[in-house]
Amino acid sequence: MTTTVPADDVRAGAASARNLVKTYGEGETEVRALDGVTIDLHAGQFTAVMGPSGSGKSTLMHCLAALDTPTSGEAIIDGVELSGLKDKALTALRRERIGFVFQSFNLIPTLTAEENIVLPLALAGRRPDPDWFDRVIDAVGLRDRLTHRPSEMSGGQQQRVACARALVSRPSVVFADEPTGNLDSTSSAEVLGFLRRSVDEFGQTIVMVTHDPVAAAYTDRVVFLADGKIVEELSEPTRDSILDTMARLTPQVG
Ligand code: ADP
Repeated sequence: MTTTVPADDVRAGAASARNLVKTYGEGETEVRALDGVTIDLHAGQFTAVMGPSGSGKSTLMHCLAALDTPTSGEAIIDGVELSGLKDKALTALRRERIGFVFQSFNLIPTLTAEENIVLPLALAGRRPDPDWFDRVIDAVGLRDRLTHRPSEMSGGQQQRVACARALVSRPSVVFADEPTGNLDSTSSAEVLGFLRRSVDEFGQTIVMVTHDPVAAAYTDRVVFLADGKIVEELSEPTRDSILDTMARLTPQVG
C-alpha cells in the first residue's frame, strides 16, 4: 500500500487554508469566527493550534476537515480544494484522506477495540492492510486489548484505540481535537507519545487543537489564533517558549 504523500516530502502542504473566512449570523450579531486565515500545514509534521476559547480553533479545524464550509476562501486537502467537491466526493475525501481523534474518544460501546479500529475502513468497503494494521497496533500498544470493549478499557486505552482507528486507513491528515482533554497526565503522555511516533516513524501529518502547553510541546510547530486570525507561530516549541508566547498574547488585565 502506498501513502498519498511521501514521508520525505515534508514541505508539501497536506492541508492548507487560503484567506479562510467563516462568519456566523448577520448584521450586528455577525461573528467572524475565522477572519482571513492563510496557512500551510506541512506533510509529515505535527502542528498544534492554540488560542483562547472562541479564537476560531475548532472552526479552522472543521473547515479544513470538510466538516464545515467556509463563508469564503479555500480549504485544501492534498491539493484538492474542498468547495469544488459535491457531497459524495466530500464524504469520500473525509473517509479516505482524513482521520479524526476527538476529546471524547467517540468509540462504539458495543464493538471491540479491533472492530472500532477497522470500522471506518469497513464502512468504506475496504479491509486494513494486515502489515500496516499490525504496525499500528504494536505502536499503540493495544495487542492484548483487541477483544476488549470500550467499557473494559481505561480512558488512555480508549483514546489509543481512537488513534489507531484514525491511522489505520493511512490518511493524509489526522485532525485531533483536544485529544488529551479527558485524560490524566500519564495517559496523556502515552497518547501524545504515540502521535509523535506516528509522525516520526510513519510520516503521518497531524494537526492538534490543544489548550495544554505540555501537549503542544510534543509538536513541531505551534500556530496561535486570536479573534479568528493567526497572530503568532513557534517552530520546535518547548513548554517554556509556549508559555512565554501565551503570556505575551494574553491581554493584560488592569
Ligand atoms: P475555539 O475552538 O477557539 O474555542 P470556535 O471556533 O469554537 O473557537 O469559535 C469561534 C467563534 O465563533 C466564537 O465566537 C464562537 O462563539 C463562534 N461560533 C462557533 N460556532 C458557532 C455557531 N455554530 N454559531 C454561532 N457562532 C459560532
